[in-house]
Amino acid sequence: MVTEKPPVATVATNMIVVLDPDAPDEAASEVVDLLDAAGVDCHVVVDQGRQVVIAPGAPSDVVAAVAGLSAVERVVKTSGPAMLVSSAYSPKRTVIDVSGVPVGGETFVVIAGPCAVESRDQILEAAHAVKRHGARLLRGDAFKPRTSPYTFQGLGESALKLLADARDETGLPFVAEVLDTRDVELVAGYADMIRVGTRNMSNYALLRELGRQSKPVLLKRGRTATIDEWLSAAEHVYGAGNPNIVLVERGIRTFEPSTRNMLDITAVPLVRQRTHLPVLVDPSHAAGDSSLVPSLARAAMAAGADGLMVDVHPDPASALVDGDQALTPSEFGDMMNQLRAMAAALGLAI
Ligand code: PEP
Ligand code: MN
Repeated sequence: MVTEKPPVATVATNMIVVLDPDAPDEAASEVVDLLDAAGVDCHVVVDQGRQVVIAPGAPSDVVAAVAGLSAVERVVKTSGPAMLVSSAYSPKRTVIDVSGVPVGGETFVVIAGPCAVESRDQILEAAHAVKRHGARLLRGDAFKPRTSPYTFQGLGESALKLLADARDETGLPFVAEVLDTRDVELVAGYADMIRVGTRNMSNYALLRELGRQSKPVLLKRGRTATIDEWLSAAEHVYGAGNPNIVLVERGIRTFEPSTRNMLDITAVPLVRQRTHLPVLVDPSHAAGDSSLVPSLARAAMAAGADGLMVDVHPDPASALVDGDQALTPSEFGDMMNQLRAMAAALGLAI
């Protein structure tokens, strides 16, 4: 029996169509119509004022036809789910401006502060200490995602007000976590940068809501997320309209019980290959143990991270959340001295 071979399919590729900056609005429809006629699903987004058509899985003959349209400036082919966040789309590394502090680029940025805001004295003391030792941004949460509903859940809006006071006193912009789409406006009203925690990395409604506002987003890796899933989460924020995203590797869950999570140091150079977004490391939530934090912080710098986010508490023994992993201000100062020596050797500013 002779079996008939199926026809050879044209190779499909993920395609990003960037229109000329002054292309009329109808230009996108021309691209969409061509793709529709070829049965290719596509999405029109506006990236920093410019129309972009995203077409995952476009056959190569369609890619060529689209590239020939007059309003098309360029067609970018990508592989994998990262499209707008891919380094193919934007080969130059992106620097995110957080209220005047650059994240990414030639400077190794350090974000530090307590896991949660617990009191006025605690956050002010922490803010002054981390500033003194060289942190450029303050962390501290008003809303905590706790595994148990019976533990401290955060002080809510009053904590945001305290963080704003700490910013006024120290000049440090701050980042705080948002847990719920209903609180995005509230947190954005105070914070300089909004964090999505590991548990919410796959909360697509929250990601898209953050895409519809303009404060920069600090996106932590889900504790069981693959790198593609993490970059897809960033794609949700970007595609919804907010390109100001910084990634944070914070450790993933493995079979090893000795540490809270396992810092995936390989993710740092890999993510820097695949995306143009800055990538930071959180050694505190990775290790869960303050004695391991300085070593992981040095590893992060050596691996090419754009910076760190570190837990620092004026009195870790009394912390309401994550005290085991918090550095004291003086331990933080020692760690910063080590990092400064490394940065000098690597030609990095810190
Ligand atoms: C945090 O940074 O305080 C936090 C809750 O981190 P993660 O979401 O990575 O557990
Ligand atoms: Mn924490």
